[in-house]
Amino acid sequence: MIIQPKIRGFICTTAHPEGCSRVVEEQIRFVKSRSPINGPRNVLVIGASTGYGLASRITATFGAGAKTIGVFFEKEADEKRTASPGWYNSAAFERFAQEEGYYAKSINGDAFSHEIKEQTAQLIRNDLGTVDLIIYSLASPRRTHPLTGQVFSSVLKPIGKSFSGKSIDAFRGEVKDVTIEPANEEEIANTVAVMGGEDWEMWIDYLAEEGLLAEGIKTVAYSYLGPVLTHAIYKDGTIGKAKEHLKATADKLDRKLQSLRGEAVISVDKAVVTQASAAIPVVPLYISILFRIMKEQGTHEGCIEQIYRLFHDHLYASQPPARDGEGYIRIDDLEMKADVQQQIMSVWPAVTTENLEELTDVKGYCDEFYRLFGFNVQGINYEKDTDPFVRIPSLDVEQNMNQVKDAQG
Ligand code: NAD
Repeated sequence: MIIQPKIRGFICTTAHPEGCSRVVEEQIRFVKSRSPINGPRNVLVIGASTGYGLASRITATFGAGAKTIGVFFEKEADEKRTASPGWYNSAAFERFAQEEGYYAKSINGDAFSHEIKEQTAQLIRNDLGTVDLIIYSLASPRRTHPLTGQVFSSVLKPIGKSFSGKSIDAFRGEVKDVTIEPANEEEIANTVAVMGGEDWEMWIDYLAEEGLLAEGIKTVAYSYLGPVLTHAIYKDGTIGKAKEHLKATADKLDRKLQSLRGEAVISVDKAVVTQASAAIPVVPLYISILFRIMKEQGTHEGCIEQIYRLFHDHLYASQPPARDGEGYIRIDDLEMKADVQQQIMSVWPAVTTENLEELTDVKGYCDEFYRLFGFNVQGINYEKDTDPFVRIPSLDVEQNMNQVKDAQG
């Protein structure tokens, strides 16, 4: 099958297996080029197949030599569609990890469900005994509550008053004005139910009850604060409310984990191009300007550079830098530098469709977006036939074991 990108709005409906594999390989190469991390041994990554979660899994394995279990929700290929990029990423990750003798197993299913939590607990019990690091990196538009069956959908809206501002259609190269009406109370509550901390707490409580957390357990979830320019739609909007709940959950979990000398913390990460951030109005334009400035300064980072710093300089540093006044780890420090933000503020009002390419790195934004799906990757021949049916090795093993169990009765 010849696989080409098919863009629909802010998603791409196809993914290229070899391209995704190459992007994973590049991230592994980056981590291996840096100093080793005196880090965790047994790691669970929830949301492990793309973006910040994938970078966390790669860093834990190739930076610290850890065993990893990755949980994600991805689609395998069928007769009509390619697999999702997270599927191809995870297949490649497992292959590279196994080639170097690292333990890596994956669980594909709804992390919000109790069933997936049970399966994960079983795998930890059988293979690892306990885990000493849990990364919580889910980004989802929807959650089915495991106790009530209620389905919550999140929205990306301002709170209190409508928001009008600039946004871009990056693929058309157009700057446009958008107005987004404020969320109602139900939409706010639903967004908190999806992207807040309830599910994270359920994971930690359940694994603690099952005795699967090691002494000194660390658990980290990811957040974003961003500059004033995006506050109406992000920090002060519905997603910001969910992130406040995530922070309150971190503080609660931190107290609960004291008995294990453990900790729960939020790392505030930089804005990067992922499937999650592409869906947020205003943010792609902000990222396009940010990229241009940070590339000029030589401080540009993607997920892997950020997460390597998180592990090496903060989580597992002998003398980690101080957390901020609210207890957050800040790896968005380079993005939030005053001179970077000042430059963005001065460019922002001047950006139009006509000067978009000149004033911003919209090309870099689009390029990164294509790479999320395995396209625009150097060295891949996109005219060549490629097999979309790629297996994730550990999922095959689990399936075979289940078939044997079923056959045994
Ligand atoms: P992403 O879309 O790249 O990854 C999301 C992951 O969650 C994938 O592995 C996906 O399979 C998994 N997932 C989604 N629904 C699931 C479900 N029901 N069950 C199991 N797995 C599921 O997202 P990302 O941008 O890496 O975001 C991860 C975290 O980082 C989020 O909390 C986000 O707010 C935060 N963050 C993102 C940015 C950014 O700019 N992208 C910046 C700072 C913080």
